[in-house]
Amino acid sequence: MAERNITEHLKLMVDLGEVTALLSESPDLQGFLDRAVAMVADHLGTEVCSIYLYNEETRLLTLKATCGLSPDVVGKIHLKIGEGLVGKSLKELRPICVANASQNPDYKFFPEAGEEAFDAFLAVPILRGIEKIGVLAAQRDQTRLFSNTEVMAMRALTAQLATAIETARALLQFASPAKEAAAPEFGGAGELFVCGSSASPGYACAKSVIFDRHPVERILKQNRGLEAGIGTAEDLECSLARTAAQLEQLQVSLGARLPEVASLIFEAHLMMLKDKTFMGKMLERIADGAPASRAIAEVSETYIKTFEASSHDYIQEKARDVEDLALRLLSNLTADAAAGETEWKGRIVIVRELLPSDILKITLEEVAGIIMVSGGLTSHVSILVRSLDVPMVIANDVNLLQVPDGSQVLLDADTGNVYVHPSEAVLAAFHGRERVRKTLKSAKSQMADRTLLQDGSSVTLLANINLLSELDLARELKAEGVGLYRTEFPFLIRQTLPSEDEQYAVYANLLKRTQGQDVTIRTLDAGGDKVLGYFDDAGEANPALGLRSTRLTLRYREVFDQQLRAILRAGAGVGSLRIMFPMISSLDEFVEARQRVFDCLADLEQELDIPIVKPKVGMMVELPAVLEIIDDFAEEADFFSIGTNDFIQYMLAVDRTNDRVSEYYCPHHPAVLRGLKRIAEAAAQHGIDCAVCGEMAHDTRYVPFFIGIGIRRLSVDPHYLPDVQQCVMALSSERATAYAEQLLSKRLIKETAALLV
Ligand code: PEP
Ligand code: MG
Repeated sequence: MAERNITEHLKLMVDLGEVTALLSESPDLQGFLDRAVAMVADHLGTEVCSIYLYNEETRLLTLKATCGLSPDVVGKIHLKIGEGLVGKSLKELRPICVANASQNPDYKFFPEAGEEAFDAFLAVPILRGIEKIGVLAAQRDQTRLFSNTEVMAMRALTAQLATAIETARALLQFASPAKEAAAPEFGGAGELFVCGSSASPGYACAKSVIFDRHPVERILKQNRGLEAGIGTAEDLECSLARTAAQLEQLQVSLGARLPEVASLIFEAHLMMLKDKTFMGKMLERIADGAPASRAIAEVSETYIKTFEASSHDYIQEKARDVEDLALRLLSNLTADAAAGETEWKGRIVIVRELLPSDILKITLEEVAGIIMVSGGLTSHVSILVRSLDVPMVIANDVNLLQVPDGSQVLLDADTGNVYVHPSEAVLAAFHGRERVRKTLKSAKSQMADRTLLQDGSSVTLLANINLLSELDLARELKAEGVGLYRTEFPFLIRQTLPSEDEQYAVYANLLKRTQGQDVTIRTLDAGGDKVLGYFDDAGEANPALGLRSTRLTLRYREVFDQQLRAILRAGAGVGSLRIMFPMISSLDEFVEARQRVFDCLADLEQELDIPIVKPKVGMMVELPAVLEIIDDFAEEADFFSIGTNDFIQYMLAVDRTNDRVSEYYCPHHPAVLRGLKRIAEAAAQHGIDCAVCGEMAHDTRYVPFFIGIGIRRLSVDPHYLPDVQQCVMALSSERATAYAEQLLSKRLIKETAALLV
């Protein structure tokens, strides 16, 4: 077959939904793998396509399915990590593409496989996050080498396969439950110590629970707990009423704690409870003779599978709602109505990945702490957890996912350390430290009203706010205003765009509670690692560089205008409102966005027939492109706020959420430091204020540098205010200036690192 052209490969990528369809058609894991290799061979036009699966326990890759090699070798070819081209691909976590496989020194020949004729070889690792699942290998005759486009297509395909294989494995477990009872890899009472990174400070010592987001597994597990099947149609109706009452109650308590999301989280659940088809199908099953528990599980499962098969993230998310609802209905079938409620309460939740809506659900149930086994420190999940004041560690060790529920875990989220089954000595040391920490906390809350340098000049400490619930802490800790209000959370945690009125209610609440203090509202910063499935579902290959942030809002004018109108309406009559645009890359963009503010303001004045105070309009400085034209920006913008999280990411080309490159994410890189100085200088020369609101602003190793380059506004997560105030008050401008000059004179990262204290 002739090599397919690029368009066809793109089609292959678009058609990847086929993998999900294959899964639902396959009876078991083996059936799925057999169909998957045949599908890939067909799409890529290869004579051979094989899947090797990796077993963590034996540390071996085993050939599990093939199309083109002898079927007799399935299950019989084993490779160690690094062995052969297949093993090498998994070891180095990258595709290996060679023209002459049999001539390659890494090639491992299996005469029984019958692969001699197929010398063009491509092996791509199948990975799920950091977890190794296996390798997908394709071979064909040497006259048709694999192109770069084909390598890209295979990479995209393996990402889909990874999820599908996991699902298939789970399904297979249900087909043979005896296997599921086998001892987990980590199951003993021995101590396990994992050193991760702190994402949200704090300490917890509690029993663990794995947050397993696999719907089928959880529902059936729960169903088995209810024995072979219980309940009548009447019981189902009772369960329904109980569930509705519980959800309404949860909504009330959520509304008190998180007003931005009041009514959102359980909205879909309540709608489903009222959905005649959903409940009708269950009643039909009962009329056919099924017990109520089986009717709930079966009907929910059908809905879950349908939602999961969707190519839209926001529809896939609905599967989680059905799962949650089914669990509640099942537990309410029994007399023990509280059974489904206590799953997370007081526990340390171990989780592979979390959606913002998951976080809200589990924190509502008062988890003691969270351990996430993938993701980066500055990802928005971490920021949200910090806002909710839940200790959290990110630890890239898959063994944690094997920790049996109910294990004693000590989470030291100040340092990022996790201890499973900690020894008495470790426990005693931590309990002592926790006592000291608590006393310190109360001492820290003795904040001064104003933050002064030793020479008497003042520094304004502001709060970064993600959720309105953080405003109380910010006030207690004497924040002088809000330096960054991230507006994206109400957008992130719901399944449709919030309306102008819904947004207005949030912003009005914010401005009312800050009582005349400076409040800087940032317009929607979606995209990148903050994807709104319902809004932009393009599945960009490179979202960090894609249609995000101000680019996105300028593209979707109505969304932008709605937000600006909501902000301006909330700020009418408030002299302290500032509006700021994220990720500005050109003056044209800034001027265009600012013009939208002015146009919306003029429209509103006419519509409402009231004068509206013109807010200050500024920008986040986050992109290196801005540096060369910073003076032009300083002439136009009313203020700057430096977003160091993104500034570092883009300056150094390091994905801020990718743990594998975290050592390159280096705030003290000389280019970063000199860039920051350049921004502060331009602001000072043009007489506009310049704040720092990225995470560097709360790091006391960098606070003296900021003061030294003339920054007098720092905006930080409220928790950090005491530390930052203490640090600033110990400084004098002169000493800070000398220190900054010293740092700026260095050429090497290791030299600046050596100066940090
Ligand atoms: C930043 O980039 O530093 C910043 C404050 O914005 P965010 O973390 O929301 O991208
Ligand atoms: Mg940013």
